[in-house]
Amino acid sequence: MTARVIDGKQIAEQTRAEAAEGAKRLLQEKGVVPHLAAVLVGDDPASAVYVRNKQIACEKAGFKSTLHRLPPTTCQSDLMALVQSLNADPDVHGILVQLPLPKGLNATAILDAIHPSKDVDGFHAENVGLMSQGRPRFLPCTPAGVMRMLKVSGIETSGKHAVVIGRSDIVGKPLAMLLAQKGVDATVTLCHSRTPDLAAFCRQADILVAAIGIPQFVKGDMVKPGAVVIDVGINRLGDKLVGDVDYAAAAQVASAITPVPGGVGPMTIAMLLENTLRSARMLSGSTGG
Ligand code: NAP
Repeated sequence: MTARVIDGKQIAEQTRAEAAEGAKRLLQEKGVVPHLAAVLVGDDPASAVYVRNKQIACEKAGFKSTLHRLPPTTCQSDLMALVQSLNADPDVHGILVQLPLPKGLNATAILDAIHPSKDVDGFHAENVGLMSQGRPRFLPCTPAGVMRMLKVSGIETSGKHAVVIGRSDIVGKPLAMLLAQKGVDATVTLCHSRTPDLAAFCRQADILVAAIGIPQFVKGDMVKPGAVVIDVGINRLGDKLVGDVDYAAAAQVASAITPVPGGVGPMTIAMLLENTLRSARMLSGSTGG
């Protein structure tokens, strides 16, 4: 079997085009332009690239984006003051604090301080709680991107066994929760570094999600024939980007698979646009549509 490739780039482009269309309608209806404020502390080059890509995506979709760049020596109270001023600014709809923060800064306290109605990353405890109860305000972008890819690709989740490897707060845990929601109806196993005989769990998966951060960790013989494989991993291997799945081997066994790059990665930014548009609609009292 050679797996069908789930083209995240194309699905992301469509999602971004829809967000651009939504922004146009919001401007007509309310005179409001969705505005994402990004906060970048320190000079980590990878973080700078991520933030830049998010800004470019905003601009292409007709959103406003502003970057607040702070030096690595920034103290907790100065960063907190910036977040509070963005919370209070009626022109700002989404606040994104790029992680990781430099050592010495308490990321949890900063993320807790972002107003939940502007938390377009979906990391605030209130938004995580709403998601877990099945009445989401903002879904975290990467898990939401995976769910969108499954839906658009016509992949049946109801009654399927989904195995998620990785239990981070930004990917594995929320994704497991979303797959188990009513209406999605997968039976979910959440695996992590303490899971014994991980390969045996993987081989039971109808939908196998890898969110580990170890290059090509999932081998072909860990994939059940006909399974759908979603590779969230982004790892640098020499001068190449590779996922957490051994793509060439897994693609021989799976029925569908996401590539790296061009799979889940592009979806994350697309869902950030969707969340920012949603926030702008809610804060401006738009009826949407
Ligand atoms: P993370 O916070 O480091 O979490 C990794 C998870 O993998 C942890 O739960 C860990 O288990 C588990 N794990 C580590 N080694 C394992 C092993 N040998 N066997 C089983 N489980 C193991 O990582 P993350 O932030 O979730 O990111 C995961 C990957 O996704 C990374 O490659 C990252 O770059 C990528 N990512 C991609 C996007 C995107 O836009 N596509 C977004 C975010 C992240 P413990 O909890 O037991 O330590």
